[in-house]
Amino acid sequence: MKSIVAIRKCQDYEPSRLRPALEKAISESCDYKSLIKPGDTVLMKPNLLRSSNPEQAIVTHPMFVEMAGEILRDCGARLSITDSPPLGNLQRVLVKSGYGDLLRRLDIKPVPLLQKKMIEFGDNRIYKRLELASEAFDFDRMINLAKLKTHCQMTLSLAVKNLFGLVIGTDKASWHLRAGKVQDNFAHVLLQIYETVRPDISIIDGILGMQGNGPNSGEPRKVGIIGASTDAIALDSVIGHLVGFPPDSVRTCVLGNDLGLGNADAHNIEVVGDDLSGFPLTDFEPPKSMSLAWNLSYWNPVSRFMENHIITKPRIDSDLCIKCGVCMRHCPPQAISDSSGKMVINRKACISCFCCHELCASDAISIKQPFMGRLLSRISR
Ligand code: SF4
Ligand code: SF4
Repeated sequence: MKSIVAIRKCQDYEPSRLRPALEKAISESCDYKSLIKPGDTVLMKPNLLRSSNPEQAIVTHPMFVEMAGEILRDCGARLSITDSPPLGNLQRVLVKSGYGDLLRRLDIKPVPLLQKKMIEFGDNRIYKRLELASEAFDFDRMINLAKLKTHCQMTLSLAVKNLFGLVIGTDKASWHLRAGKVQDNFAHVLLQIYETVRPDISIIDGILGMQGNGPNSGEPRKVGIIGASTDAIALDSVIGHLVGFPPDSVRTCVLGNDLGLGNADAHNIEVVGDDLSGFPLTDFEPPKSMSLAWNLSYWNPVSRFMENHIITKPRIDSDLCIKCGVCMRHCPPQAISDSSGKMVINRKACISCFCCHELCASDAISIKQPFMGRLLSRISR
C-alpha cells in the first residue's frame, strides 16, 4: 500500500498563515479527526535538543507546536508534551526556548521522562533489547513534531531521529557507544525505537530548517515547507529529497524500507499538497561529515590511514571553549580529557558520534573534514 506524504508551503510562523497550512498538511495525510477522539490523551514530541532561541532552528518552533496543539485540542484532545533533553531538565528547556506561554494557553502538561521500560526484540534484530521512557507509553496517541535539521552523524535529523529523545538522559551516550563508528548500527537503534513507539502522525517543521553542521550549531536556513504523514520513513524520504539529498544518504529511510517499517521508494509514496516547483533545493548545505568513510568498517586494513586522512572528527577551539566540561562528561568512549586546563580529543578513541558538537553551547567544537575525505565525499555524491 502506498504511503501518503502531505507537503504544504509556508514561509513563516505567522499564525494566520501557519495554522491553515498545518491543518491542510495534517488532513491531507490522514483522517486525523477520526484518529483523535474527544477526551483522548495526546503526547506531543517536539525536538527540544537544548535551550535556545527558536530563530536558531535548534528546536521545533514554539509557534509550530502551538498551532499543532490548537488543531489537536479542537478535536477534544487532552495535551501533554515531552522530550529528554541531553542538557538541562525539560521544564527549563521549554521555558527558555519560548514554550512557556503556549503551555499555559493550551493547558499542555510537560511530562519529564524518568522511568525506564525494557523493550524486547526477536533474535533476528541487531539489538535484542532497549530501554525507553515508560511515560511515552501512557497516552492514547503520540504526535511526532520534528525539526528539519542536518545531523553530523546521521546526515539529516527528521521524524525518525526525533524519537531518540525517548531514550532517557545518559542512556543516549551508551547507545552511541554500542553503535560505534558504523552509521548503519545507529540507524538500526533509531528504527527499533520507531518500530516500538510508532507515532500516530509525524509532522516536520521545515519552515526554518538548519543546514551545515547540525543539529546544534548549523546555520538556520529558510526552506518554507511543512510535511506530515503517518509513515515517518516515507516523510523523511520525501523531505530529504526536497532538500536535495541523495536517496541512500538517510540510512534510516533505506534500512527502514528494507525492514518493511515504512516506504522510502518513491513508487510507493504519494506526495500530495502544494505544487513543489522550486524543489528539490540545489544549495542546501550538507554537514561536513557527510562522507562515504562513515560506513566503512572499523577493522578495515586501512583504518589508521582513514582515521587521519578521511574520517571527519571534531576539533575544539580553545579560544571559544569555556571549559564547562559538558563534552568531556558526555563523550560516549571518554575520548575527551582535560589536559592542564585544555580540552583535548583522543582522535583514535573518538567514534565520530558528534555528541560533543551537539552539546557544546559555546560553539567551540567544529567539524573539520580532512582533504581526502572531502575529495571522496564529492566523488561519492
Ligand atoms: S562543551 Fe564546549 S565549552 Fe564546554 S568544555 Fe567542551 S568544548 Fe569547551
Ligand atoms: S570526541 Fe566527540 S565525536 Fe568523538 S566520540 Fe567523543 S563525543 Fe563523539
